Amino acid sequence: MVFLRSEKDIEDFVKTLQIRSDVINAVRSFHVVLQQNLMQVATLRDGLRRLRCLEDLQLIIPRLKPSGWRSLLRHARFPYLDLLYTNAPHDIVSDFLWSHPRIAYMSLGKCISVRKLCALDGRQLPKLCDISGPARCVASLVKQNPVTRVAAYQLPSDGPLVITALVQSLSLTTVNLTVLELDVDTSDYNILQRISEAAPALTSLKLLEVQSVDAVIRVFLCILLFLTNASRAVACREGHGKMESLGDKLFVAFLS
Ligand SMILES: [Zn+2]
Repeated sequence: MVFLRSEKDIEDFVKTLQIRSDVINAVRSFHVVLQQNLMQVATLRDGLRRLRCLEDLQLIIPRLKPSGWRSLLRHARFPYLDLLYTNAPHDIVSDFLWSHPRIAYMSLGKCISVRKLCALDGRQLPKLCDISGPARCVASLVKQNPVTRVAAYQLPSDGPLVITALVQSLSLTTVNLTVLELDVDTSDYNILQRISEAAPALTSLKLLEVQSVDAVIRVFLCILLFLTNASRAVACREGHGKMESLGDKLFVAFLS
C-alpha cells in the first residue's frame, strides 16, 4: 500500500517508479490524500499511468478544477481496479467508470450538479456493492445496481426530500441491503418505520441527525416573526403607532 500526503511525496514516489519496475508491479493499493492544492498534475498523472496493477485507488485532491481532473485521469487504465474513493466531480467519475466496470466499492465527494441531473444517474455497475456519497447521487446508483452497503449524506443545498427519495429507492433494489448509514432531517419523525419497510434485511443502521436548509429557514422566520411582534409591542407601548423595525425590514426582504 502506498499512501502519499503531499506533492513532495508524489514527486519522490514517481522518481522511484522511473527506476524500479518491481515497485510498479507490486503496488496494488494507491492513496493520494492532499490537504493543499496540487500544483503539478503531470507528475501524478505520470505515476498513475505506470501503476497498471492497482486494485484500490484513492484520490482526494482539494480545489482541483475539472480540467485538472480530466488531465489527471486521461488515459488512466487499471484493469483490476475494484475500489475507487475520490472527490473528483461526478461527470469525471462517470467517464472514468466506462473503462472500469469492475468497481465494487465507491466513495464519492460532493456533487456540483445541484440543479441538473447528476452524470452518474442511471449508471449500471454490475459489481457495485458498497457506495457512499451524496444522497441524491447514491439514490440512483442504488436502484440500478446490486448494492448491499450504503452510506449517504445530505448536502446543505438538498432538502429532506432527497433522503425520502433514497429510502424509497432502497425498496427497489434486487438485493438485500444489510448496512445503512444515513443523514436524516430532525423533523423526519417516521424515518425508522420507512427504513424498516424498505430494507427489512438490515443488520447495521447508523442515523445522523442534520438540519436541512428548509428547517433552518423555518427557525429563522420564527425568530424574525418573534422580533417583529416584540418590536410592535414596544412601539404600541411607547405610542409610536406603526413602527418599521429592523425585524419588519428583514422579514419583508426575506419574503420578497
Ligand atoms: Zn452526483
